Amino acid sequence: MSAPAPYVELDASALRASILSGERTPQRAVAEAFERIDAVDGELKAFLTTERAWAEERARTLEAELAAGASPGPLFGVPVALKANMCHEGFETNCASRILEGWRAPYTATFVQRLVEAGAIPIGTTNMDEFAMGSSSENSAFGATRNPWDTARTPGGSSSGSAVAVAAGMTPIALGSDTGGSVRQPAALCGIYGLKPTYGRVSRYGLVAFGSSLDQVSPFARSVRDLELVLSAVSGTDALDSTCRELPPFEASGDPGDEAITLEGLRVGLPAEYMPDALDGGVRTAVEAALAQLRSLGAEIVPISLPHSNVAIATYYVVATAEASSNLARYDGVRYGNRTAGDGTLNGMYAATREAGFGDEVKRRILLGTYVLSAGYYDAWYGRALKVRRLVQRDFEEAFASVDVIAGPTAPSPAFALGEKVDDPVAMYASDVMTVPTSLAGLPGLSVPCGFVEADGRKLPVGLQLVAPALAEARVLRVARALEVARGPLARPPAPGTPGTPDTLEEARS
Ligand code: GLN
Repeated sequence: MSAPAPYVELDASALRASILSGERTPQRAVAEAFERIDAVDGELKAFLTTERAWAEERARTLEAELAAGASPGPLFGVPVALKANMCHEGFETNCASRILEGWRAPYTATFVQRLVEAGAIPIGTTNMDEFAMGSSSENSAFGATRNPWDTARTPGGSSSGSAVAVAAGMTPIALGSDTGGSVRQPAALCGIYGLKPTYGRVSRYGLVAFGSSLDQVSPFARSVRDLELVLSAVSGTDALDSTCRELPPFEASGDPGDEAITLEGLRVGLPAEYMPDALDGGVRTAVEAALAQLRSLGAEIVPISLPHSNVAIATYYVVATAEASSNLARYDGVRYGNRTAGDGTLNGMYAATREAGFGDEVKRRILLGTYVLSAGYYDAWYGRALKVRRLVQRDFEEAFASVDVIAGPTAPSPAFALGEKVDDPVAMYASDVMTVPTSLAGLPGLSVPCGFVEADGRKLPVGLQLVAPALAEARVLRVARALEVARGPLARPPAPGTPGTPDTLEEARS
């Protein structure tokens, strides 16, 4: 028998097939994930915690079940990384915050339980911006994650570690959460696929809340078929989350094969607001090339306008901070996490706990959110933001009357240097201009790798964002799949610190 394909080149579907063909076992797949983590994660810092013993035990159980005749799930034997705001019983769910450092989840999230039932093996929790607030990983209390394409740069955020786990080949798939772009933006900056489903598609039970009307569990993957597999595993109604839609799980289209997909008849809207003059030149070139490719596959590119795009960021930072100030009130040193005694009074203990436990950005958001909800300011800020949110939603409704999907850059620039925006929160917030409107409208958005920008002698990935009407994930998945077939497999980042390693799998093989 020929040697099994290297672990890092496999997507989840191919890894499962390799296991079922007898080429490797689930235990071997777990061992390979940890070999890769040991080799690269000292430098990249994607994982906050690893649960090797648990993962090995789970792999043995899967092997025993298979031997006893159980039918293997769609993610059988596939290692998966979980963002550190996701609960798996016994795993440390610290949200990259001092206030929850050492806190082990007492129960398992619905979506994690469903992944496990599908045969996946959670192997640890990944680094993130504290409580998912940020776009670079620099708000983690435990240090920044590095971009595998250039370790001096951010991988994006807030689901930084999950993106890097997949981009650097530590796990074929990972889960992040996307509130205003936290999966789509790091997927773009790391050169992988990331899908934010329709709000309410996936249960939030067991996801630590940030902005409850926006948060959505979202997969990262190395292929479009894997995004579909994970979405179908985790989605569907859940009695434990009243905001989860009463719908059956998303149905994967099955193995699509390598047939070219025609997009004949598809109308793709290109919002003028997403191609501003200030857009990075390299991002523009890569996005235009992807649009040309869509055209060559038969799609028609239609200029459109989403006129309220310019107020979406301001609206988001009122709505999300308002919800965060309420959600984070529970960290008081009594019910959850760590306590600092303070002056011995109850109020003193609350204040000292929150002062010591939260980082600067989290405090900034709690203050902003408390302000916009306070008596006398509520109508002027929060009430008005809800009205503008409605206008942003209406922009999309009007656009979708004449187009099937909307396309544009996922982020206005490629990965920026660590340190570049830390002292300028407004510049950091602006990196979400193209993802936040979709979040406010609750729509599905998928970031597809679409090329590279050259900077400092490095190649930096660019993402194309595809947006569809609510519950039309199948539409963006099909367009992404058409591009994937046309463009070939994902390029692989250089191993950390080794410039000149092959850029594509083809090059690596030849
Ligand atoms: N970067 C945005 C923020 O800081 C989005 C974060 C997210 O989607 N969790 O709020």
